[in-house]
Amino acid sequence: MATSVKLNTGADMPILGLGTWKSPPGKVTDAVKAAIAAGYRHIDGAFIYQNETEVGEGVHAMVKEGVVKREELFVVSKLWCTFHGKSMVKEGCQKTLSDLKLDYLDLYLIHWPMGFQPGEDLFPTDSNGNNIDDGSKFLETWEAMEELVDAGLVKAIGVSNFNKDQIESILNKPGLKYKPANNQIECHPYLNQEKLINYCHSKGISVTAYSPLGSPDRPWAKPEDPSLLEDPNIKAIAEKHKKTSAQVLIRFHIQRNTIVIPKSITPTRIQENFQVFDFVLSDEEMKTILGFNRNWRVCPMTGSMKHKDYPFNRFKKFLTAFQLSQSERNYIQELSLGSNLQSRTSEIECHPYLNQEKLINYCHSKGISVTAYSPLGSPDRPWAKPEDPSLLEDPNIKAIAEKHKKTSAQVLIRFHIQRNTIVIPKSITPTRIQENFQVFDFVLSDEEMKTILGLNRNWRVCPMTGSMKHKDYPFNAEF
Ligand code: NAP
Repeated sequence: MATSVKLNTGADMPILGLGTWKSPPGKVTDAVKAAIAAGYRHIDGAFIYQNETEVGEGVHAMVKEGVVKREELFVVSKLWCTFHGKSMVKEGCQKTLSDLKLDYLDLYLIHWPMGFQPGEDLFPTDSNGNNIDDGSKFLETWEAMEELVDAGLVKAIGVSNFNKDQIESILNKPGLKYKPANNQIECHPYLNQEKLINYCHSKGISVTAYSPLGSPDRPWAKPEDPSLLEDPNIKAIAEKHKKTSAQVLIRFHIQRNTIVIPKSITPTRIQENFQVFDFVLSDEEMKTILGFNRNWRVCPMTGSMKHKDYPFNRFKKFLTAFQLSQSERNYIQELSLGSNLQSRTSEIECHPYLNQEKLINYCHSKGISVTAYSPLGSPDRPWAKPEDPSLLEDPNIKAIAEKHKKTSAQVLIRFHIQRNTIVIPKSITPTRIQENFQVFDFVLSDEEMKTILGLNRNWRVCPMTGSMKHKDYPFNAEF
């Protein structure tokens, strides 16, 4: 298996590199040294990581010690969003070169397609929490990137976090001088990027997979988030090969001919992550790993969701595919990106055994109201089996109901009201219809709400099993 990928410039890019995001300045010099000593020849950095001076120190120390020559190394950096203005691109690149104390970069990427208002604040944000657009066009930023190649400051240029349409618009740009050599994107088994990788490869654009281990040290990690390193399926494959989960997660990319840049500041892990050229995942294992996709992102860059060049919005594709007026576009854009229109709602199954915490939080964060269906667990569903769990008979619900001198049904309904969720219990029995409406005269305590939320067991009344293989089946996603 090749240890490098040939770029469309003719250069060889080492297939495995060291990531440096979140590597503290006080640790990254030693990490770079440990990596070069272990055999790494590719270092991935960026201006925004705020540690390029110390990354450079690691590189220079190893060159000085004679372990490696500069020309044997492949150093990557990225233009930050506040430098997208055509006249600022060179300044951004020169800042990185002077921090690294290097004459040239092997690859320089536009870090994100969005340009931000220039200035000291690297994440300029308006009062609604949205990153402020500088009005630049990434096609013009690309032209300034091309000038860096001509000036000899960088050997190759590429992009990062660009979607297919955005890459295509560069490839179709009139007067294009250099094609992107690389697109660096988030990629791992939970976001396998099959289509985007195939597209890039078909255009001669190499792909680098970032956050290959699921970025467990990302600052916004939540305990309930999925963990790739702990995934029992990955662990099982690793055990079979007498390797670690990290090694399997890294090897996965190498076999897809995708460059991969795990980050570590721990010398033993830096070495471990490089021991990936002595085993092969079988086609079956590769297929299994590809099957774990759930479109889960480490870096959704949510502050830029309203930016005109935000890359992760499938809906934008739909917008450009139709001949719509600007006002129609704006309206649909509002619908997809979140506004205060009260008319939008999503009706989903929801009750204590399927509490939908993530989906509700997501919908509410986008201004979409949620309606909870089957709130009583739909005991009259045609496919009910005697062994199925029963919400109305649940002893925990019953105990709470007794405390409030209410029925289980009333507690199950009240639960939604306190989550600001619309609720639609069905009954054809007049006394029950009345009972189900008597839910505005008591309040479940925070403790009780927590207890009820804790009954979650991802049990569905309506799994719609006949559609499980349909391409639009909704319940395979994480939420
Ligand atoms: P990652 O490489 O998926 O994960 C890094 C985390 O995994 C660290 O907490 C590290 O801990 C731990 N780790 C490393 N090796 C391990 C091992 N063998 N066993 C167990 N844990 C291990 O995350 P990432 O930093 O998000 O992504 C990698 C690189 O991609 C970044 O550093 C950056 O260079 C690049 N990136 C680019 C973008 C972009 O927008 N272009 C976005 C994100 C990342 P220790 O460090 O404590 O050992």
